Amino acid sequence: MWMMVHANGYALDAKGQRFEAVVVDGERIVAVGSTADLMLQFASRVDGILDLQGATVVPGLVDSHMHIAAVGEQALKLNLSGVRSKQALLDRVDEWARRLAPDEWVLGGGWDDNRFVDRILPTLEELNGAAGGRPMLLNRICQHAFLANSAALHLAGIDINAPDPPDGRYGRSHAGELTGLIYENAVRPILRVVPKRSKEQWKVALRAGMEMALKAGLTAVHTDDVRSFETFADTWETFYQLIHEDQVKLRVHELVDWHYLDEIPTVRHLLPKPDHWLQIGAAKLFADGAMGGSTAWLSAPYSDAPGWTGTPIYTPAELMSRIRSAREKGFASAVHAIGDAALDTLLTILEALPRGPLRDRIIHAEVIRPDLVERMAALGDRVVVDIQPRFTVSDFPWIADRLGDERIANACAWKTLKDAGLFLAGGSDAPIEPLEPLLGIHAAVTRRPPFADGDGYGMAEALSPEEAVRLFSRDTSYASQTETEKGVIAPGWLADFTVLDRDIVFPETVDQIRDANVLYTIVGGNMAYAADGRQVEWSA
Ligand SMILES: [Zn+2]
Repeated sequence: MWMMVHANGYALDAKGQRFEAVVVDGERIVAVGSTADLMLQFASRVDGILDLQGATVVPGLVDSHMHIAAVGEQALKLNLSGVRSKQALLDRVDEWARRLAPDEWVLGGGWDDNRFVDRILPTLEELNGAAGGRPMLLNRICQHAFLANSAALHLAGIDINAPDPPDGRYGRSHAGELTGLIYENAVRPILRVVPKRSKEQWKVALRAGMEMALKAGLTAVHTDDVRSFETFADTWETFYQLIHEDQVKLRVHELVDWHYLDEIPTVRHLLPKPDHWLQIGAAKLFADGAMGGSTAWLSAPYSDAPGWTGTPIYTPAELMSRIRSAREKGFASAVHAIGDAALDTLLTILEALPRGPLRDRIIHAEVIRPDLVERMAALGDRVVVDIQPRFTVSDFPWIADRLGDERIANACAWKTLKDAGLFLAGGSDAPIEPLEPLLGIHAAVTRRPPFADGDGYGMAEALSPEEAVRLFSRDTSYASQTETEKGVIAPGWLADFTVLDRDIVFPETVDQIRDANVLYTIVGGNMAYAADGRQVEWSA
């Protein structure tokens, strides 16, 4: 048993209670109250006391949607997220490729042509030159578009005049030849020939991602990684080893890509059982693409591409049968739906199905027609909507060109959804967005880049700091159906806390949220992360 005292504590319960001190026994909270009261009752019985000297304590922050293996893997790949022009991209590729063996793949990601000052992409010849003859594949920041060079296309058996596959498309020159730009599943033949990372390499990546999450103040993540490992068993085993053997104390709620569901019954008996640390989540499916590459499925054409509405990934009947088959196997569905047509189709399916034993999840819901809000609300707590407040930073202002003046008011309309009574859960979609929950909370409040001045985009849809902190704590526990265990600081609840050097619930200025530093991340009573120079043992 140990205690924290002199905290600026927010219980974030229904009554909005404040506290100074918390007593923890094992993985749970025993008592919450004033420093004087709890010292009197517990000081003689505890093994240690952590004096927080006024630091802010909130329930452990949780990310409701991310890809943590991919977050960690970025450390092993060329990171193009800061690149702001075509030439800068080519220079970075050239510099990276020179350090590789002559036949080694150039793998990278994070490029965002919407952020390029010149808004143009390199030609195939330029890509070939920069990679020095090596095969190359560079993922766009949204993961729905890619740049490949001639060596990669050749290894994948894709001819310069290849037709588009049914579930993807190639960028083409006036002469109809491939430019190296690839959309959606047209990339699959290349992914098949990229050398696979070993289970050991993925473990290194996963550990890096989990440690980054703890450092950022996250106590739990809802994450989608089976496609990285390509087997559920390896994914599960690796998480288990890191959490329980290597003591990387982050809670993990693992979504399972739909294509891997059939593997679970055959391996389940071989694997350690789920517990509070490691849980199997919903079946992950995609209804459409993303706004960045204009692959999100809209109910009316894109404003900057006459006649083009984007496309669904599956026909409505196929999506329904996949959701239904997941249910038959005991899984809720977690469906990526960015455009309003994708959302409409998904709602029609969920409305037609009876209430399942578990809550379904709608991931993103970025473009929302007003008539869809009521339909989502009518589903009540059957459905949780996983929103990513950082999309207001990365997708504005260019998303206005895609949607036009009228529809832009319905993009990232978080306050409208909240006021309609919907269950929302905050996440990052890292590595597409930064994984720091403080940046997500800041974005939900300001709807602008962290260091911009003035008002953000569509401030009518901004959340209060308190709402935003709840979005990344208690609200996420509805999505993992742990809402009686996680997200409130009260006796009996799990001892998950994020400790910060600034107040983020009632900050004096909104940018205090951005500037706050994580001092401690405490998970299940374990000191999972302590900032440099901070004590990691309780003083006796
Ligand atoms: Zn995602």
